[in-house]
Amino acid sequence: MPKSSSPFDPRISQAVESVWVDGGIDGPNTGIIPLYDLVASYPIWVSEVDNLSIERAGDFLAERTGQKPELGLESFGPISGFFYAYQYRGGFVGCILVEKRDPVVRRRFSVAHELGHYKLHFEPWLTQLSPEQLKEGILLTDAMVYPKQSDNPDTLTAGTGNALPLYMGEIIHQPAMIMSDEQETEANQFAASLLMPEDTVREIVTQFHPPAGQPRGYLASRLASEFLVSKEAMAYRLATLGL
Ligand SMILES: [Zn+2]
Repeated sequence: MPKSSSPFDPRISQAVESVWVDGGIDGPNTGIIPLYDLVASYPIWVSEVDNLSIERAGDFLAERTGQKPELGLESFGPISGFFYAYQYRGGFVGCILVEKRDPVVRRRFSVAHELGHYKLHFEPWLTQLSPEQLKEGILLTDAMVYPKQSDNPDTLTAGTGNALPLYMGEIIHQPAMIMSDEQETEANQFAASLLMPEDTVREIVTQFHPPAGQPRGYLASRLASEFLVSKEAMAYRLATLGL
């Protein structure tokens, strides 16, 4: 597995900041991040779909665009999140789908993860391509699944790479981009930074004064509701920030 980038990789914090700027919203305040308002500033459809799978995502896109899309993804059963970004001769189709039956905290994380692929991987990719390459269709697709999560957030630390929701993503077309484990990690770090801003987390932890000796899981449960994220994601974020 490639070495994952630092949680403090400046590209990630810059991408998160640009989302606030693009959304025309002053940076994070305390409380729940207005994720859907932020995504609305991009030309990306966001929709919740029952029984989400690669096939269902293909049907959704076919209905919206009137064309059967090439997804470049193998079928692998139920998924929680899906991203499609296709640029062809100046036209662009972008779409994020999430599983409607997932808990709201998971749906939000899935949307934020897929937005991370757009900001960190698709947008920069376009700037690196030559005019000739840009004449061809450029496609990035991603599908995500979550591993079975531990019931005990205290067991989740920054060192255990599988603690957070992961991935199964592929990207292909002309020219091709294949999502690496590192890019999946980056999308997760982007999601965590967007939904749980470091300064706000530190401020709330300071105000909260957790009772001495309480395990991290106690603090994670308490803070998860402040940010509308899962307690697993919160525990992982606290560990990453050394809190
Ligand atoms: Zn992904």
